[in-house]
Amino acid sequence: MTAPVPFLDLKAQQARIAADLRPRLEAVLAHCQFILGPEVAELETKLAAFCGAAHCVTVSSGTDALQIALMAEGIGRGDAVFLPAFTYTATAEVPLLLGATPVFVDVDPRTFQIDPAQLAARVAEVRLAGRLRPRAVIGVDLFGQPADWPALRAIAAAQGLFTLDDCAQSFGASAHGARLGRAADATATSFFPSKPLGAYGDGGALFTESAGRAALYRSLRTHGEGTTRYEVLRTGMNGRLDTLQAAVLLSKLAVFEAELAARERIAAVYDARLAQAVTVPARVADSTSAWAIYAILLPDAAARDRLQAGLREAGVPTAIYYPRPLHAQPAYAAAHDGAALPVAENLATRILALPIHPDLTEADVDRICAAVCANA
Ligand SMILES: *Cc1c(COP(=O)(O)O)cnc(C)c1O
Repeated sequence: MTAPVPFLDLKAQQARIAADLRPRLEAVLAHCQFILGPEVAELETKLAAFCGAAHCVTVSSGTDALQIALMAEGIGRGDAVFLPAFTYTATAEVPLLLGATPVFVDVDPRTFQIDPAQLAARVAEVRLAGRLRPRAVIGVDLFGQPADWPALRAIAAAQGLFTLDDCAQSFGASAHGARLGRAADATATSFFPSKPLGAYGDGGALFTESAGRAALYRSLRTHGEGTTRYEVLRTGMNGRLDTLQAAVLLSKLAVFEAELAARERIAAVYDARLAQAVTVPARVADSTSAWAIYAILLPDAAARDRLQAGLREAGVPTAIYYPRPLHAQPAYAAAHDGAALPVAENLATRILALPIHPDLTEADVDRICAAVCANA
């Protein structure tokens, strides 16, 4: 039996970029400006240019990016923050940390993205109940594809909500001809090692078109500092990106477009070869995906679990994103108002993620497709 296919292969990627990466790391070790060194500013300029955003502020993680964005709006107790029930835990954790209340919204059964019609209904419910002030919507671009930002923005504009794009899985994707980064009032992304653009540790970034917001983000990531280091204007946090991580990201950004293209080529092969056996992911119209995750659907939990076991036998690792919607998590159940979220609950039982990364070989992809078709 040959070795299992790697679900993610950071060693192969490192070998590809080594010639650029090593001198960049050596340069940081030589100048020793480990906090806010020159690589951080260079990365912020390049990331902003990459996605066409006016401002980029790097931070210590995707979670801290979300938190800083909500802190800058003064969101807290009594505020309702609308977000999809089917996403990573950090999206809901952040409003709770600030004393606000997450209001879970159901998702589209085909694209897995937050459903704008459900969002409008949930905002109306919260207004009617009168206990919370609707303040913000966090749209997540799930698995690499964009949420329906034009629809979300229209609802937010009508309701006076701040829009925050949780782009942790989708940096590099585009919608309606433009890269994600300015689809919402602020965009937060993550450089966790397994994300499409990943560092060698934690990291994240915020993007905005507003100079005022960008200045607030810079202040908040350094303890709320003012124009001098020892002037504290507001309660902030220690939320900066390390210079060494910025150096890693500069190396990875240089090959990022090629990696996105490689992920897209693999997704196209999966679409073509697996559609006969399983439900392949629906493409969001007029967009491209960063393909953080390629998720298929099986008819039910038994079929999903059978396929997962069969693939494991065949040396094909898989993952379940997400086995539980957030409103059903023990930590968040108490914050949930009890609304039914049937699509998120159903997806959790049927979804399965296949390996997708730029270092998968043609032979790997072939083996994965054959194993899915034989076991589905
Ligand atoms: C990974 C992720 C985050 C959190 O990013 P970290 O850098 O790990 O803090 C937030 N939201 C979503 C949707 C994510 O996938």
